[in-house]
Amino acid sequence: MARCPSCLKFAAYDVSANEPEADLQFENEAITGSVHCVLSSECCGDELKSADFDIDHSITLEDIISRLKATAAEKEITLPEGFESWTFEDHLSTDESVEFSGEITERRETTKTTAKGVVKTIPPRYQKTFYGFEGMAEFTVTAKWQVLKDTDKTLEIKTLDVKIEESISDEMQASSWDEMN
Ligand SMILES: [Zn+2]
Repeated sequence: MARCPSCLKFAAYDVSANEPEADLQFENEAITGSVHCVLSSECCGDELKSADFDIDHSITLEDIISRLKATAAEKEITLPEGFESWTFEDHLSTDESVEFSGEITERRETTKTTAKGVVKTIPPRYQKTFYGFEGMAEFTVTAKWQVLKDTDKTLEIKTLDVKIEESISDEMQASSWDEMN
């Protein structure tokens, strides 16, 4: 707990007061960047603590190809032979910008699992509270290829946008967050 500067009481955190702010990009088969979170006091809404979470969330080319396949099936689009080996050097592209929407989370650890696999209740005074965030990161991969038209044997360029959505979350103990005052 931290003291609220406005009323000087030890304040509880209002996890719904702020949304996490993300600065993310997709490159080299990973979503990377950071998510900035702020915890405000429940009583007066003063900003008390902040944390920056480093993100390194892997999405392999294999994952992207399987989603491309699923999207094509959904839209009843026939992909050409050999699409399984497409890469970002040839048929795939992305503008690298990643949208994120999420919320700040709170989790109290009330039980622990012993080495023998027994779940035990932690006495309240030793329970730890974790704050963090969870949300969806989203970006688009565009697949582009050519097909030879049956009718006049000319080449036609086809494109298909594949929406990639990934759930991202992280947390740490409130005591590890930075004090803002
Ligand atoms: Zn207050």
